[in-house]
Amino acid sequence: MPEYQTHDYDVLVIGAGGAGLRAATEASAQGARVGVVTKSLLGKAHTVMAEGGIAASLANVDERDNWRVHFADTMRGGQYLNNWRMAELHAKEAPDRVRELEAWGAVFDRTKDGRILQRNFGGHRYPRLAHVGDRTGLEMIRTLQDHGIHSGMDVHMEHTVLTLLKDDGRIAGAFGYDRERGRFLLFRAKAVVLATGGIGRAFKITSNSWEYTGDGHSLAYYAGAALIDMEFVQFHPTGMIWPPSVRGILVTEGVRGEGGVLKNKEGRRFMFDDIPENYRSQTADNEEEGWRYTQGDRQSRRPPELLTRDHVARCIMREVRDGRGSPHGGVFLDIAWIKPRVAGGAEHIKRKLPSMYHQFKQLADLDITEEPMEVGPTTHYMMGGIRVDADTQMSDVPGLFAAGECAAGLHGANRLGGNSLSDLLVFGKRAGEYAAKFAKENGPAGIDQSQIETAARDALAPFERTGENPYGVQETLQDVMQNLAGIVRRDSDLRQALTEVAALEQRAQRVAVSGSREYNGGWHTALDLRNLLTVSGMVARAALERKESRGAHFREDFPAKSEVEGQSNIVVQQTDTGEMQVTRTPLREMPVELQQVIEEMK
Ligand SMILES: Cc1cc2nc3c(=O)[nH]c(=O)nc-3n(C[C@H](O)[C@H](O)[C@H](O)COP(=O)(O)OP(=O)(O)OC[C@H]3O[C@@H](n4cnc5c(N)ncnc54)[C@H](O)[C@@H]3O)c2cc1C
Repeated sequence: MPEYQTHDYDVLVIGAGGAGLRAATEASAQGARVGVVTKSLLGKAHTVMAEGGIAASLANVDERDNWRVHFADTMRGGQYLNNWRMAELHAKEAPDRVRELEAWGAVFDRTKDGRILQRNFGGHRYPRLAHVGDRTGLEMIRTLQDHGIHSGMDVHMEHTVLTLLKDDGRIAGAFGYDRERGRFLLFRAKAVVLATGGIGRAFKITSNSWEYTGDGHSLAYYAGAALIDMEFVQFHPTGMIWPPSVRGILVTEGVRGEGGVLKNKEGRRFMFDDIPENYRSQTADNEEEGWRYTQGDRQSRRPPELLTRDHVARCIMREVRDGRGSPHGGVFLDIAWIKPRVAGGAEHIKRKLPSMYHQFKQLADLDITEEPMEVGPTTHYMMGGIRVDADTQMSDVPGLFAAGECAAGLHGANRLGGNSLSDLLVFGKRAGEYAAKFAKENGPAGIDQSQIETAARDALAPFERTGENPYGVQETLQDVMQNLAGIVRRDSDLRQALTEVAALEQRAQRVAVSGSREYNGGWHTALDLRNLLTVSGMVARAALERKESRGAHFREDFPAKSEVEGQSNIVVQQTDTGEMQVTRTPLREMPVELQQVIEEMK
């Protein structure tokens, strides 16, 4: 029997990013005893990296904005595969969640008359992103942390959950280890909220932090939950591409929101070449109109640089493929060109985009107020994840809730920028509330010792064998996913990806680590492999199944949207015999009132 410490909670929240902290705060406010587990230090979760802002129809900058426009924008961006109820709740509740954050101490940028300032972002009809320069995630985490910690919750920093425990079908807790000493812990809990973020580390080029190994997706899968939309991986159009050591680091869409333009090596704004039909009436058809839009002219339409991310990423790929790319295989993003057009010139750019200025100055020795940046697509966000009930955020497993990037439904085939931070607040709160309710209504569950023994034995196995280094397996997997299941996909590549993932699963069974259990990076990587391989298998299978191109999923062999394919979500679930099964579930019919909202906004 392995040695372990035991902690008892009503609600255990796994993850201390925006979704986890908001859920924990709410569950505490409902009177639940709450424990939070996080792989990193408190305040360091991936959310801290968020830059551009939080989408909410506060209508502070343009009074024409309201929840209906935000709802319609989100559904259009997601190509109508979204869970419409989630999109409705999100659009209606986001303004209150942002105002609440302000009341808890978040210091947003301000309009001249002192209200929260909002900026333009891709796919949002009106300026909608509440922001703090380009460091919004930092302010969000700081505020949630300050507020949450006083509501009384235990935080287990630098702890990793390895498995969820179940009792007779319902959730019973989780088992994991502390990264510093390598000791095991049992968390008994009446309800568990997964808020573990995304899967970007399964790909070679990514904007995501080291935490993004798909743990929550994988934990939920092995606990019996269904996952949906796993084919939809968002490739953000603008990541750094040079020098190689910084490849993938995000260049916020805020640059384009502030007037930045994309050019190919001929100096041409290629985004005007291909404007999708469903956005044509809302998109500027000349450069001057696009500029006026970014400067707040309400009669103007958005420049094509602010079309949805999936589309912009593919246009960049096209330029590169056709030989019109930049020297290092991307295109140019130019914000310096606005200098003569704005008061304060270079200072204005530095004030609006302080992190971008420093990022390029320090990492690429480039002054963005003088020269264009070189950018290209980077793996950024996972639309797919744990299937949840829209109102309560409970998964198919009783007592298991999910919120934030590891949950699915809100964004459909493509997420609009800014809609993640608002997702974390709206659905983090809901998950915390309903998890606390579940805990109140259901007594403690029993703990099955055999589940703990299996988890501990599997975790320690890499110390007991000789074999290859786990980093080699991880690196090969990242190459496989980048090359065979990336921005442009085809049947033969995806089948090849599945074959390679299966071979890597065999190799992962044989990886070995040396040294002790204390802060052993090799061991941590060995333990991440199962999650990375599981989510990669899900992505490739779902991508193979969806025989059309929609949103972030582009199939070279099925380049058009299909009305039939667009009627269902793809579901991945483990069968009783342990196989990964892919099925479909038809979209639920949207109520007439919401259909009318979409029609009105067309
Ligand atoms: C550079 C960048 C900029 C972005 N800018 C914006 C923006 O401006 N607006 C916007 O809306 N979105 C933005 N996004 C997306 C957004 O930041 C993320 O989608 C969001 O922060 C995810 O929050 P989360 O709470 O779901 O997860 P996270 O903040 O990633 O938190 C996950 C937590 O789970 C923990 N965890 C994971 N696995 C385990 C485990 N096994 N055991 C214990 N703990 C675990 C982690 O340690 C972490 O604490 C940006 C993303 C990036 C990369």
